[in-house]
Amino acid sequence: MRARYIRNIHSESLHREADMAQTLSSTALYRLPWNFSDNAISWLEPTSMCNLYCDGCYRENRTNSHKTLGEIQHELDVFERLRKCDGVSIAGGEPLAHPEIPEIVRMVKRKGWKAIINSNGGLLTPELLRELKNAGVDGFTFHVDSGQNRPHWKGKSELELNVLRKQLADMLHKVGGITCSFNATVYPETLQFVPELLRWGQENIDRVHVMVFINYRMAILGKDVDFYVGDTQVHFDEMMYSKRDDHRRTDITSPEVVELIRRGEPGFAPCAYLNGTERPDTFKWLLTGRMGNAREIFGYVGPKFMEIVQTWNHLVSGKYLAYAPPAMQRRGRLYFLLAPFDAGLRGVMKRYLSALFRNPGAFFRRVHFQSVMIIQPADILETGAVNMCDGCPDITVWNDQLVWSCRMEEQMKWGQNVRMVPRRNGAEEDAQPHPVHADVE
Ligand code: SF4
Repeated sequence: MRARYIRNIHSESLHREADMAQTLSSTALYRLPWNFSDNAISWLEPTSMCNLYCDGCYRENRTNSHKTLGEIQHELDVFERLRKCDGVSIAGGEPLAHPEIPEIVRMVKRKGWKAIINSNGGLLTPELLRELKNAGVDGFTFHVDSGQNRPHWKGKSELELNVLRKQLADMLHKVGGITCSFNATVYPETLQFVPELLRWGQENIDRVHVMVFINYRMAILGKDVDFYVGDTQVHFDEMMYSKRDDHRRTDITSPEVVELIRRGEPGFAPCAYLNGTERPDTFKWLLTGRMGNAREIFGYVGPKFMEIVQTWNHLVSGKYLAYAPPAMQRRGRLYFLLAPFDAGLRGVMKRYLSALFRNPGAFFRRVHFQSVMIIQPADILETGAVNMCDGCPDITVWNDQLVWSCRMEEQMKWGQNVRMVPRRNGAEEDAQPHPVHADVE
């Protein structure tokens, strides 16, 4: 999912993250087994054209950038050759802008993968949804937030956008059998709304299966680092994820978001994660599984539950699980069969039974499972090293190689990821890029 670059993480936010991580132990939570060649998800971009201009988007909005079906087939073949996955995120740009999107879904399905469309939903009509359903689409991840300059919704707050989120969730619910996820970029100015968005997610737990929060990232230029390709300094200004005049924080961390959520939902308990490539104690993808209904959340599954689910799915299908079908998400009471193995589930069952005891009528209400994912994209450390997501699920294809989709603009421009070199204290940014070795001498 989607990444945004960041400015340096200085020691104070490192310490802040370390303090909060106390409440989240990377040794107690389940480290998801997803890796470079055997993952749950892969990322396909049939186009980089989009109908919106989101604040902090990582992909340049290129018109006439629709890939041909031949090019897309080739990328799917590269995935098949180099990487196992359960589902493919069909993203972009805006994938619904591609005229062949139903056929692209069929192509993904023909590979035996789940087809998940990552869309801002602006181009989705009931007719197109019906066509995609017939093509076999398994799910949608709708990117909806207040940083999108969305026509007809300009100036609407994060919470006012719940009206739009509900419209999209109802569209899918009406058709049925399609997983519905929402992702929102968490900007410093919208961080406060995360607990409310989760409450909205609970109210709609019968039709919203996943809530995703992606911490805002941006490379703020002219400050602490210079950018190099090989030994040549390069200007980073053209990168979509770079700015000079953005004074907002770009180092919100996952534990910080958890801490905020816990003010309203004290029992909120993540169960699994992906760590950083540089820092094993960072929570780059932080997964929580909560169970309940619109009235009550009975609790959170534990690490053992997630380990059993991933391991069993891999044992049976040879793949790690990305998305469970809606039919599985609304049969939460079935999960109680695993309660002997997972303390979290035992807690859910206990609270459910006491709710039943208080009100036997509750038996006729379903227990739903809903995932909450918090993503902490690339962090630039004081050394200039970049703490990426270890086991990145959003790996895409570039030049027959597998690359981080959040840094593909660098691949497109320089054929490789840039290196960041911290600037000596007080040193000014060089107007003219020049080879590294000039400095060394
Ligand atoms: S490393 Fe992968 S998962 Fe992490 S932000 Fe980048 S593309 Fe997304």
